[in-house]
Amino acid sequence: MRPVPVPTTLGLGNSQYRDRLLARLMDGVERDRRSGCWMWNRSADTAGNATVFFRNRPRVAHWVAWVLLVGPMPAGARLDRTCHTAACATRRTCRHLRCVNPQHLTIPATN
Ligand SMILES: [Zn+2]
Ligand SMILES: [Zn+2]
Repeated sequence: MRPVPVPTTLGLGNSQYRDRLLARLMDGVERDRRSGCWMWNRSADTAGNATVFFRNRPRVAHWVAWVLLVGPMPAGARLDRTCHTAACATRRTCRHLRCVNPQHLTIPATN
């Protein structure tokens, strides 16, 4: 039997810290009016995923956005982006990896 996923909140219970992190995240975002993408224009990891620093470590920014704006994420869950296009599949990386719009993110169903 699979273990029950534990909701994870990044330890962001402290609302003041949470607000500051959200402000910092949104400060680094440029909204693409055509696609609706929220493009993070600061740091990224080697895979091209947007990263935001908090508690002295780079964190995957779209994951942080999800926790801040949607809610806890089940442990071990991954987030897929819905803003990819057919052209993205043929590329090793694409600009959407910098998108942190939670409305462009989805937790894929696992069975
Ligand atoms: Zn997007
Ligand atoms: Zn893409």
